[in-house]
Amino acid sequence: MMDHNHVNCETLLGSLSEYIDGELSPELCREIEKHLAGCDNCRVVLNTTKRTIDLVQSPTEAIPVPDDVRERLFKRLNLDDYLKPKSQ
Ligand SMILES: [Zn+2]
Repeated sequence: MMDHNHVNCETLLGSLSEYIDGELSPELCREIEKHLAGCDNCRVVLNTTKRTIDLVQSPTEAIPVPDDVRERLFKRLNLDDYLKPKSQ
């Protein structure tokens, strides 16, 4: 027997944050994804956790773009190219 299935719910939930942070080995990630594919419960937990992390992170550090830069970026993207008739 190959021991390719030693990720169970407990193992998965125990290393969930490392998994989300991408700190696990590719091998372990594969095992976890394999388990997720067959386990609704863990998928729900994963999604919920991810969403929570997003909520927690986005106001504090996920937006490093200063207002000033964002405004300029916006201007660049300001659809001028799309609004302007090309044949002018
Ligand atoms: Zn599970």
